[in-house]
Amino acid sequence: MTRRFEEDRILVATHNAGKLEEMEQLFHPFRVSVVGAKEMNLGEPEETETTFVGNARIKARAAVEATGLPALADDSGIEVDGLDGAPGVYTADWAETPNGRDFMLAMTRTHSELQDRKAAQPWTARFCSTLVLAWPDGHEEIFAGTVEGTLVWPVRGKLGHGYDPMFQPLGHERTFAEMSADEKNAISHRADSFKKLIAGCFG
Ligand code: IMP
Repeated sequence: MTRRFEEDRILVATHNAGKLEEMEQLFHPFRVSVVGAKEMNLGEPEETETTFVGNARIKARAAVEATGLPALADDSGIEVDGLDGAPGVYTADWAETPNGRDFMLAMTRTHSELQDRKAAQPWTARFCSTLVLAWPDGHEEIFAGTVEGTLVWPVRGKLGHGYDPMFQPLGHERTFAEMSADEKNAISHRADSFKKLIAGCFG
């Protein structure tokens, strides 16, 4: 049985202002007040696991232990079939440079590795978003969302973030970076995991 969320406050274990705002909007109809990790002076735990759920759990559990509040954390990334699922949980790492993250670099590396491996086209891939909702008594609920698509080269579009310019969702002619935020948010991996969370714990 999925546990319903009955408390009046939820801690969202993210330091990302955009994600926090997205969650605030999501929970608004359910009269749950949302507290962010920064507001609670939480650190960022090291993401040492090799799966999305493992890393989301690390973030959620660390937040619960530090505050005693139920906490929600997410972990996301892109899995490329021709690269055996890479970069996956290491999506952000592929963009690291001494001067911050550079996703053009990460996308270029993805493209050259596909070419080096002579990966068959279309280059299928999916964005994944896994949510872990953790309670202080140890209970947790897990919701995994995905959106399937193909990788394009050269990349197209200037909107969005991360790998959006390289990712064309299945059934669409444009990449995520050529879509408005509303269009992307209606079909994204995060929309999928959020929908499952709401249906499971808040519906
Ligand atoms: P994290 O879950 O915040 O650790 O994000 C992992 C990485 O996955 C991000 O840095 C993004 O590059 C990538 N990613 C996750 N969701 C998206 C998306 O919707 N578009 C593009 N890139 C994404």
